[in-house]
Amino acid sequence: MSATRVPLVAGNWKMNFDHLEATYFVQKFAWLLRDAKFDYRRCEVSLFPAFTALRSVQVLVEADHLHITYGAQSVSVTTQGAFTGDVSADMLARLGCRYVIVGHSERRKYHPEDDANIVDQVRAVLAAGMQPILCLGESFEERRQGIELEFAVGQAHDVTRDLSDEEAARLIVAYEPVWAIGTGMVATPQTAQDAAKAIRDDLRDTFGPHVAEVVRILYGGSVTSKNCTQIIAEPDVDGFLIGGASLDVEELARIARLT
Ligand code: PGA
Repeated sequence: MSATRVPLVAGNWKMNFDHLEATYFVQKFAWLLRDAKFDYRRCEVSLFPAFTALRSVQVLVEADHLHITYGAQSVSVTTQGAFTGDVSADMLARLGCRYVIVGHSERRKYHPEDDANIVDQVRAVLAAGMQPILCLGESFEERRQGIELEFAVGQAHDVTRDLSDEEAARLIVAYEPVWAIGTGMVATPQTAQDAAKAIRDDLRDTFGPHVAEVVRILYGGSVTSKNCTQIIAEPDVDGFLIGGASLDVEELARIARLT
């Protein structure tokens, strides 16, 4: 964690919680944080419901003036028209989304999302005035070969290199080694730091010191309240993208308090 970047704790609910469960979760989460006198200026908390729950979360956040932010888990690259099943970036922005997760390894695996498509998603999110959370990270095979840093940096570089400095400054990067996602095999703090630093160094080389200083780089993969304090102590790690542990409201509140 740096002295200048506000850490972000982001709960990626994946395909869990209908709109009623999401409503209950947000109410309880806000209550737990209020009870703990949580300082939202010190650490930002953000939730990523399924599309079907976004509107319910928006209504609750606006009605109760909650300081919780929220976003979507993916977005279509097209803006409007005959694209059955797609949801555009403008639609998400109008629901009050601040962020969109882009390029999650599960999207890369189960949907035809390659780097070109991910670049288009990043552009669509930026054009709609939101911020992309760009997910990347090596598989076990790249780690075994000892090329994990080149791989992660290469993924970040390929997607971001044609952005303007102003666009790049609005990015958030989530380093999520695929072998750590949902496996209980959390990366060591040093592994998370090495990757975050390598990605930040590349941003500095491409866009200069300002972009490298402001972009938040999250770690994701089996984060819990038991391992988050050691990881957030690393200087280049600016928060977490949390899957499994974000489904337990008390656990997510604990992680937010500890970050
Ligand atoms: P996990 O998932 O926390 O369940 O490992 C992280 C993610 O997929 O973003």
